[in-house]
Amino acid sequence: MDSVFQRQIAYFSMEIAVDQRMPTYSGGLGILAGDSLRSAADMRLPMVAVTLLHRKGYFLQRLDGQGQQHEEPADWNLHEHVTLEAPRVIVQLQGRYVQVAIWKYVVRGYDGWSIPVYFLDTDVPENEPLDRAITHLLYGGDSRYRLLQEAVLGVGGVKALRALGYTDIQSYHMNEGHAALLTLELVAEQSTLRRTRGDDPGVEDSVRSMCVFTTHTPVAAGHDVFPLDMVQSVLGHQPVLDRDDRYCANGLLNLTTLAMHFSGYANGVSRRHGEVSRKMFHTDRVDAITNGVHPTTWIGPELAALFDKRIPEWRGEPGQLRLAINLPADELWQAHQHARTRLVRWVNEQTGAALSDKVFTLCFARRNTGYKRADLLLSDLDRLKRIAREVGPFQIVYGGKAHPRDGQGKELIKRIHAARDALAGEISLAYVPNYDFAACRLMVAGVDLWVNNPMPPLEASGTSGMKAAMNGVPSLSTLDGWWLEGWTEGLTGWAIGGDRFADSMDAEVIDDRAADASSLYDKLEHAILPLYLKNQTGWINVMKHSIALNGPYFSSHRMMRQYADRAYAK
Ligand SMILES: *Cc1c(COP(=O)(O)O)cnc(C)c1O
Repeated sequence: MDSVFQRQIAYFSMEIAVDQRMPTYSGGLGILAGDSLRSAADMRLPMVAVTLLHRKGYFLQRLDGQGQQHEEPADWNLHEHVTLEAPRVIVQLQGRYVQVAIWKYVVRGYDGWSIPVYFLDTDVPENEPLDRAITHLLYGGDSRYRLLQEAVLGVGGVKALRALGYTDIQSYHMNEGHAALLTLELVAEQSTLRRTRGDDPGVEDSVRSMCVFTTHTPVAAGHDVFPLDMVQSVLGHQPVLDRDDRYCANGLLNLTTLAMHFSGYANGVSRRHGEVSRKMFHTDRVDAITNGVHPTTWIGPELAALFDKRIPEWRGEPGQLRLAINLPADELWQAHQHARTRLVRWVNEQTGAALSDKVFTLCFARRNTGYKRADLLLSDLDRLKRIAREVGPFQIVYGGKAHPRDGQGKELIKRIHAARDALAGEISLAYVPNYDFAACRLMVAGVDLWVNNPMPPLEASGTSGMKAAMNGVPSLSTLDGWWLEGWTEGLTGWAIGGDRFADSMDAEVIDDRAADASSLYDKLEHAILPLYLKNQTGWINVMKHSIALNGPYFSSHRMMRQYADRAYAK
């Protein structure tokens, strides 16, 4: 029944968060991959997944008193989590034969259906030291290191599936451009099969009929690009790259365009991101499937217990979360208070802060990088203090790593620490180090308001606000990514500013910082805090609508159903 021969969909991703204790992911992309597999397992999809082992993880973040970030390797004991498969494969890289070991982890669905995830590993004694390091560090090293990793993932990944006996895969899903080199291996396979060269249109057509590509990056500079001579020195001569068009312009290989070229189906990850991608790639071929999150992974234990009692079918059928509209107000309120107490205790332990478990709590937690504007909420500390004094008390929780080479992101963390000190005595602010899977689970369940203010249209989707919504936590967010689809003013949350791109994708991308900050403060002062403090019934109504309106739609079950219908079905 569970034979490898029936597995028809292979999901490829540079990072996959399968387990809180395995640092094989860095953030949103890996968590999304994990949620995709968790829903696929619940839905009994015939899927298998491929990624890299990342023995040293991404990194552990330590912060000093001024908010200076220090990075430490995230070593982990793989033997506790994954098991070694018998076959090894060989990939020719830089003229050397590099051996790739394969480790297996099993994602289990709600009723036991299993999805095998294969973690590729070049750290075997037979390889040279430099080759052993290829699969050590997620997003570490230079451009050549990245290319080597992507070659192991794409080329090694297809070879690994064959060695494991998967000969009947119908769909290869590339989760972001990192996996695009799998197309080269499929072209090589098809050419051998048809005894022709890779530029035979029959070869291209058959590869295209098997490939699915999801792009997650709304800015051209975010796509992986490698000089063709580097590609040749790593992968040897590849006939399909002997062409000076689409994916190989100006002596550069663009992995996103390569993936697009060889995919019969491509999509962005929210409706708006679909529009942005169609404009960026000058094509109408890019569909949109809005991201989702896995309800039983993200709904905290307090609310989960309440749902088990009042909406017993929600675990198997997240559509039932619509019934949250009927939850008894006092039970929902109590469950959330318990989640907040659990969060506050943990934040205080982690940071030495003295947050209160009785005070309205805002949270901003995500990768720290320029366009996300983590410090927008702190633009005008005097106004913030005045709101706390005149309208009512609140406290703020922050979290988020900056990529080791993102100087601007690191500066932001320091600026938030300086604001923390400037607010001391009036508004408590805690910056929790090492934001990760476990931290996010505590935060989305325990805070009262989820704040997100990227510069539109640079947020492809965003998913943490969906996790918050399922926990009855409304968002205060700029109109971008998923929030354009999840936002109902005053019922599921509040908008910061308007939608600059409502009429045309040609609108300018500008950092409307002063106007956005002022809109954020206005909503906090005149709508959000007064509702919370003076109208508890009204607030609980917002909590219910967050769950009932957004829980069913923004579940990864809905997302995977759409992939199954539009992308995998042939
Ligand atoms: C969900 C999640 C993200 C992605 O959320 P965004 O809204 O895109 O920031 C990032 N990191 C972790 C650890 C998460 O759990």
